[in-house]
Amino acid sequence: VSGSKFDLIVIGSGPGGQRAAVQAAKLKKSVLIVEKEGLGGACLHSGTIPSKTLREAALNPATVVHDTLRAVMETKQKVIQGETEVIRQQLTRNGVEIAQGTACFLSPREIQITDSKAKTSMASSDHIVIATGTRPYRPKDLDFSDGVLFDSDSILGISQLPPTLAIIGAGVIGCEYASIFAKLGAQVTVFDRRTTLLRGIDTEVLNALENHFRSSHITLKLGEELRSLKKTKSAQGRSAMEIHFGSKKYVVDAVLYCMGRSGNVEELNLKAAGLTPLDRGLLTVNKFYQTTQPHIYAVGDVIGFPALAASSAEQGRLAALHAFGIDGGEFPASFPFGIYTIPEISTCGSDEEALKKEDISYVVGRAHYRELARGKILGDDFGFLKLFVDSKSRKILGVHIIGTGATELVHIGQIAMSLGASIDLLVNNVFNYPTLAEAYKVAALNAANQLRIN
Ligand SMILES: Cc1cc2nc3c(=O)[nH]c(=O)nc-3n(C[C@H](O)[C@H](O)[C@H](O)COP(=O)(O)OP(=O)(O)OC[C@H]3O[C@@H](n4cnc5c(N)ncnc54)[C@H](O)[C@@H]3O)c2cc1C
Repeated sequence: VSGSKFDLIVIGSGPGGQRAAVQAAKLKKSVLIVEKEGLGGACLHSGTIPSKTLREAALNPATVVHDTLRAVMETKQKVIQGETEVIRQQLTRNGVEIAQGTACFLSPREIQITDSKAKTSMASSDHIVIATGTRPYRPKDLDFSDGVLFDSDSILGISQLPPTLAIIGAGVIGCEYASIFAKLGAQVTVFDRRTTLLRGIDTEVLNALENHFRSSHITLKLGEELRSLKKTKSAQGRSAMEIHFGSKKYVVDAVLYCMGRSGNVEELNLKAAGLTPLDRGLLTVNKFYQTTQPHIYAVGDVIGFPALAASSAEQGRLAALHAFGIDGGEFPASFPFGIYTIPEISTCGSDEEALKKEDISYVVGRAHYRELARGKILGDDFGFLKLFVDSKSRKILGVHIIGTGATELVHIGQIAMSLGASIDLLVNNVFNYPTLAEAYKVAALNAANQLRIN
């Protein structure tokens, strides 16, 4: 690499970086991607893929019966290894040069790469994409090295299932791990200062999740302040943590601390590039993903919301197209959110709050899985799908689902909405039977009935 000039340098090989690199390579540009850890980013090594592999294992009754956390972790490692190879092949097949090491700016167009043996090399480019992602936020006064206090990275190295686990933070990551560990057999308690789980989720869906958590023996402690976390000993003399929450104290075998994430910018020497990050290391960009230095783009989690794998990848693609003067359009206004709690949740489009704010009159079409043959076959009498439908145009404005297959099903609604479809599209089409997708037709008919009455 040393001294070479590239058409594009990408820093970070998560979904955002990968997609930017491959897109530029497809345009026949010379591309260097720099990665300091494993190819595939946090997405592959500590985020999406390991957590979803653990979830799948937890859902498999054989795993739970044998309670072999080690076997679960081995499966996860195999998936990670396999995927790393797929990404390496994809990058090399497209002619992307890979440099293993930590990148930092020497000037706005030059970077230095330092490998694990402290050997340095240099590269320059007129276009740079920062896709360095985030890491779990760790308060300075907490010690995460003792095997009782974990974050979402270190929990992946846990070797024994803790009998009791406290999750601090009821955001997406906290709720997903609460489901997974409860399913594996731990006694889980979720603590949060807010009075509900998650954020920005349809109230009915949220209530259903909270009820399901309670019936799965996940204890919810919400609406009070976390006062302290201290190391202590359990009644059996084991290392444990004492949680002082509100006016009460709780002793648990392990704590998973999920209180947000910080952008990976410290090692980049952003000053040399003329950039200044916001609080918690996030970078601001315009709609083309350009930072305040127009030739330096930033994509993925390091720019904050929505901080999802697929959106990071799409941002990477759009940034690479823009860098080389191609109009790739804009990031879609509506895109799906998938939350892999047990049961899973997925939403796309408007929610009730947005519709009320915009003063749009709407009806809600509902379909309960218990009314569907497939729901009965699956034993999911809990899930449901909601469609928000414009009362005047009959257009589908939002879809919200909780239950089996929600993260897959949402795409039917997403595509219908992106085509500006009305519920009649769903009513007039034939769906496979018995499927969960049939929920769309049932919900559309339910909305149509209300519109007829209105
Ligand atoms: C527990 C968990 C579960 C998640 N589950 C989901 C999910 O189910 N679905 C979903 O869509 N999203 C999920 N996410 C979010 C998803 O993982 C992120 O949105 C995605 O990884 C962001 O991609 P990225 O390209 O921004 O960067 P990342 O994947 O974070 O990768 C950034 C890379 O940059 C590298 N890097 C950093 N600094 C430097 C440097 N100076 N030099 C060289 N390399 C550097 C890092 O080593 C890292 O490999 C989850 C996240 C977590 C933590």
